[in-house]
Amino acid sequence: MTTAPEASVQTMTLLRHADIYAPEALGLNDVLVGGGKVLWIGKEVSGLGTLHAEEVDLEGHRLIPGLIDCHAHVTGGGGEAGAHTRVPAVPLSRFTLGGVTTVVGVLGTDCTTRTMRDLVATVNGLRNEGMGAYAWTGGYPVPPLTLTGSVRDDIAFVDCILGVGELAISDHRSSQPTLNEFLRIASDAYLGGLLTGKAGVLHLHLGNGPRGLSLIREALALSELPPRVFHPTHVNRRRALFEEALELARSGCTIDLTAFPVEAGEDAWTAAEGLRRYFASGAPPERVTVSSDGGGCLPHFDGEGRITRMGVGSPASLLETLLELTATGEAMEHVLPAFTSNPADLLRLSGKGRIRMGGDADLVVLGPPGSTSGLEAVMMKGAWFVRSGMALRRGMFEEP
Ligand SMILES: [Zn+2]
Repeated sequence: MTTAPEASVQTMTLLRHADIYAPEALGLNDVLVGGGKVLWIGKEVSGLGTLHAEEVDLEGHRLIPGLIDCHAHVTGGGGEAGAHTRVPAVPLSRFTLGGVTTVVGVLGTDCTTRTMRDLVATVNGLRNEGMGAYAWTGGYPVPPLTLTGSVRDDIAFVDCILGVGELAISDHRSSQPTLNEFLRIASDAYLGGLLTGKAGVLHLHLGNGPRGLSLIREALALSELPPRVFHPTHVNRRRALFEEALELARSGCTIDLTAFPVEAGEDAWTAAEGLRRYFASGAPPERVTVSSDGGGCLPHFDGEGRITRMGVGSPASLLETLLELTATGEAMEHVLPAFTSNPADLLRLSGKGRIRMGGDADLVVLGPPGSTSGLEAVMMKGAWFVRSGMALRRGMFEEP
């Protein structure tokens, strides 16, 4: 059973000798945390006096911002091969043990037995348990599923809703939206953002269809909407689609890679390989994000639309991708923004995705530089959720 996060944010914590990637490399520093925020970063804190901060010596281990997963089926996704294939909800520790401290929940194919009410309630539950949790309204279909009757009102009146997603295009499971339908939804997302200061983004599921990203290109050519509104995901699922996505990133869209498993010889790129290729292409480094599709099912279809086998996405795949990249020679500060500051900027989550004074104390401790050892500790809003690689707090109905 979890402890209410409010009980812990009273505590101050002084993290000593942290090798900070903020995501930029700051080197060895101390970090003072209190009231759920990063209060101070520097070499030697003085004047703490009687404040009784808990001191934790990180001994030069790496400290990074908590990862932001902008696409996870927090209610559980699936259902594409009958009701028994509906995936259960993703519990809190599945995120924290993967270093994810902020998640955007999403509905997918099944907007028939799944509802926006359930999604928003699940997101609010994760918030109560201490996570940064948000939602896309809509799911695959057109018209999108909503809470209030319109996606614009959902963004305007429901605190956790940031935009519309994952509206499906170029997929046999999509509603096959026309360009006009597509533009109407994009403009509602954009206007919802203008009215609230939220992201107002249209987050798009891309299928394997040969039309690829053509609908987004047409929307950009024929409307006044800015490119930042369109955020296509799963773009590494086909290699030709990935090449299209590189062009779109150059024109101002942010593209999202999915950290799903890829088999040898498959016409896809892993998220790690996709990121390497993205940076090598010279596309803008701030226009790429990586998400997990956690809790979603990963169905494989034959040519008749029959499922041949099924897997489930895991939030841990984000950290696995990050560690794979750093283990194969990529500099942490080079690749980390795609998991932290890039999604924070796109989603306009100003307290997230960076280690800086005044930001939320959502922090992840990894092994020392040069090591391949993974997650050691996770703090959310100043409270420890993982220490020594073990979950200290779990969701309400998780087994200890
Ligand atoms: Zn999808």
